[in-house]
Amino acid sequence: MNDEAITKFGQSLRGALIGRSQADYDEARKLYNGMIDKRPLLIARCADVADVITSVNFGRDNKLPVAIRGGGHNGPGLGSVDDGLVIDLSTMKGVRVDPAKRTVRVEAGCVTGDIDHATHAFGLAIPFGVVSTTGVAGLTLSGGHGYLSRQYGLAVDNLLEADVVLADASFVTASETANADLLWALRGGGGNFGVVTSFLFQAHPASIVYGGPIFFELKNAAEVMRWYRDFQANAPEELYIFLGLQTVPSGDPFPRDHWGKKICVLLISYNGPVGDGERAVNAVRAALPKPIIDFAGPVPYPALQGMFDGLYPKGLQWYWKGDFVKTLPDAAIDAHIEHAAKVPSEASCMHLYPIDGAVHRKANDETAWNCRDATWSMVIAGVDSDPGKAPALKKWAKDYWAAVHPFDLGGAYPNFMMDDEGEARLKATFGDNYLRLAALKKKYDPANLFRVNQNIRPAA
Ligand SMILES: Cc1cc2nc3c(=O)[nH]c(=O)nc-3n(C[C@H](O)[C@H](O)[C@H](O)COP(=O)(O)OP(=O)(O)OC[C@H]3O[C@@H](n4cnc5c(N)ncnc54)[C@H](O)[C@@H]3O)c2cc1C
Repeated sequence: MNDEAITKFGQSLRGALIGRSQADYDEARKLYNGMIDKRPLLIARCADVADVITSVNFGRDNKLPVAIRGGGHNGPGLGSVDDGLVIDLSTMKGVRVDPAKRTVRVEAGCVTGDIDHATHAFGLAIPFGVVSTTGVAGLTLSGGHGYLSRQYGLAVDNLLEADVVLADASFVTASETANADLLWALRGGGGNFGVVTSFLFQAHPASIVYGGPIFFELKNAAEVMRWYRDFQANAPEELYIFLGLQTVPSGDPFPRDHWGKKICVLLISYNGPVGDGERAVNAVRAALPKPIIDFAGPVPYPALQGMFDGLYPKGLQWYWKGDFVKTLPDAAIDAHIEHAAKVPSEASCMHLYPIDGAVHRKANDETAWNCRDATWSMVIAGVDSDPGKAPALKKWAKDYWAAVHPFDLGGAYPNFMMDDEGEARLKATFGDNYLRLAALKKKYDPANLFRVNQNIRPAA
């Protein structure tokens, strides 16, 4: 590959080709996780599918490591690669809502807030995550769980169709009727199978929800966690509560008296008539000790989705570990509280996200995503703005995880893994679906061009 080939490549793109000598290179290579500092050779900021096809051909023909970037939110920074080509979709942001069919066509550079904004006008939403700056592409391709998942399933359960540029640069549409095996793989198998350029999703009614955070002092955490463990199985599916062990942020709108206090928080969303939501949350309030802060109330769904964006701006240091969790015995709760009390920074947290309701109504082999016998997806995230704290964040997350892992299932949500987990962990995560995924990887990407991801190697 010489300068002439790179110049020709750049001239054939409608979007920008950004190399190391360009003024915007450092800005363009930045990822959400400030702990990751990758220096790609080239960043192809694709404007359309034609640019993606050209980029895949260029990366493959020049034997470059290829990374695919959607929202750039991935923990280990798998949306970028050292000394390789980044196929950056972040400017492909088209969204089209079909209110009659309740479907939404989404280009692959959208973040979840882009879609919430577009669908809210029609009283609709797609189940994505709980922060509005996360990329739709990476979130969806590995599953995607959030406030609407008990009611409507994972993001992948609502993925109807995807346009994909494969490793040989051919363009295909994957749906239930065309390339159905590829759609199956995209429903959880991550970025292993090609570059998705657009998604077609099923949307659902969601407008004003009754939701927000309710904070309890850490001394009440064991009682709240035991209640939470028993409550969820019988809760209506409109009511989604994820539980966090973390710290009251030192800033507005939190009452100054509580800044920096370690707490147990319930993050609530009731998607249904607001009066029903208020009654359901009042029953929760009545069952639990008096909270120190209670911000739950009627809120537009996109506002709930964006409620924590300000607390987690781009560029913080992140190190996280996850697990799927089936049960929460008292001994596990004790281990959680012991380690949460040693939290190394105000932004660090442990969250338990419900995996039940509509998610359990699909069989494990219906989609590549197969941890449907879990009850929660857990993440332990060491987070801070100071790069000097990175070793302490990692140590805390690893020690905490080691203490609770014996109570958990073998696999974890791939979107809550760093890149140091190993193939055995991925096999534990995909279980009986792993062999089929490896066979489909061999069919669609036999040379493993797309390997900057939680990689599934092509079957031998
Ligand atoms: C603050 C925060 C909150 C989060 N909350 C949630 C949550 O509530 N629920 C949840 O499910 N997850 C959540 N996540 C995890 C999130 O889903 C992952 O970080 C995800 O990888 C982000 O996707 P992205 O497109 O932004 O990532 P990127 O870094 O751009 O990409 C990640 C990987 O996805 C693949 N990929 C991206 N785009 C494409 C494409 N177009 N075609 C093929 N492959 C592609 C590639 O393999 C790439 O390496 C959260 C993450 C953060 C940082």
